[in-house]
Amino acid sequence: EPAANAPAGTARAAGGAEPKPLLKLSHPDRLYWPDEGVTKAGLADYYTEIWRSIAPFIVGRPLALLRCPNGIAGEKFFQKHAWKGLSKAIVQVPDPTEPAEGPLIAINDLDGLLGLVQAAVLEIHPWGSTLKDWERPDTITLDLDPGEGVVWQAVIDAAREVKDRLEQAGLAAFVKTTGGKGLHVVAPLKPQADWPAVKAFTKGIADAMAADSPDRFVATITKAKRTGKILVDYLRNQRGATAVAAYSTRARPGAAVSMPLAWEELSPAVGPAYFTVMTAPTRLAALSADPWADFRAAARPLEGAKRPARKRA
Ligand code: ATP
Ligand code: MN
Ligand code: MN
Repeated sequence: EPAANAPAGTARAAGGAEPKPLLKLSHPDRLYWPDEGVTKAGLADYYTEIWRSIAPFIVGRPLALLRCPNGIAGEKFFQKHAWKGLSKAIVQVPDPTEPAEGPLIAINDLDGLLGLVQAAVLEIHPWGSTLKDWERPDTITLDLDPGEGVVWQAVIDAAREVKDRLEQAGLAAFVKTTGGKGLHVVAPLKPQADWPAVKAFTKGIADAMAADSPDRFVATITKAKRTGKILVDYLRNQRGATAVAAYSTRARPGAAVSMPLAWEELSPAVGPAYFTVMTAPTRLAALSADPWADFRAAARPLEGAKRPARKRA
């Protein structure tokens, strides 16, 4: 259903014979990415089109949100808590361990996502655990942050090394561009180990890489000290920490998105901001197979990975 057939400012569901108006956007022509001409309505169209791809990564988990009411050139607010005037399609859910802090934010459906678009959310950063099991993460993210002067091939090599180490631990590893400067290597978990165990596991990987290749990697250090090196940032893997969602847009020039890739697709030609709001839907429509199709099915428990023979109770 071409978006041009929709009344101005009305986002519509893709694919159905009878697309139903989902949410009335105010100021649909507001420019969020001025250089690319991407408006609020354009962002709503993007998320409507790729909804089935992004849904598994953003539904039913706490979300931190980067809001840019005046687009990427204006002020940015990284929000971990609900604010006044949120659409009813957006779920407000208290953190069970911090009920006094005010509710966190979650969504259940495309209406919720379009509510985020209406609220000028230009980046979506989920937790690595779900509302069903806050304390036991179902996703690990190892965030590779290249320092000044690091060539892209070195980031690719780093991602492959992280993959090897995750696989050695019995886990599956997937890779995505961040839409910024680096790559994320993501491992699905059966929610079993708690946050401290998962953090310790990922710290172990980062520390081992830095110890084995001190000229290439650092595990924790200030930007100034990592010229020519890649920070293996494991700190996405602690309670309350977040990483940008697969398929989320970035509030940066170029309107890039974080794009899941097949490992074989990693190449010097596909940089971290290669896929954008403009090109991602075409890529997804043209793919014969989603490279992350098995993501959730590939989940393994961390404990099982470390100790194949589990003690019986
Ligand atoms: P890049 O490839 O450019 O590094 P990235 O998404 O990995 O992209 P990082 O700076 O490495 O960016 O990671 C920052 C992460 O920290 C974000 O993904 C986000 O979830 C989290 N975060 C915490 N506080 C903030 C904040 N104030 N603004 C933006 N992100 C924040
Ligand atoms: Mn990063
Ligand atoms: Mn980082």
